[in-house]
Amino acid sequence: MNKKNLANLKKILIQKKTEFLNKTNNVQRELSSGLNATIGDEIDTATQNSEKEMFFELAANDRITLNAINDALVKIEKGNYGLCECCNSPILFERLEAIPWTRYCIKCQEEAENPKR
Ligand SMILES: [Zn+2]
Repeated sequence: MNKKNLANLKKILIQKKTEFLNKTNNVQRELSSGLNATIGDEIDTATQNSEKEMFFELAANDRITLNAINDALVKIEKGNYGLCECCNSPILFERLEAIPWTRYCIKCQEEAENPKR
């Protein structure tokens, strides 16, 4: 994969990650204003939540995606991004463009979703 494509995918991954974390921020604020209206000091602490704590505010599906996004970013740093975690072959760029945080090539994904009996 060329550097320009990789840089573009990295940008999408970071944007998506920010989106998810912003979503948790909103959830946090709603919870704070609704439930903890009387304990003003605690709201300040809540807004300083670490990324890890925010992570647990997400729905299960979002957590899986956010995890995959983080792993993808790590892989970009390590230089092994775009390789299938199962068979280690390069994932098609078209697939990465559609789902930049995908872990598997189409073949392995299909096998995982439709296991042979
Ligand atoms: Zn594979």
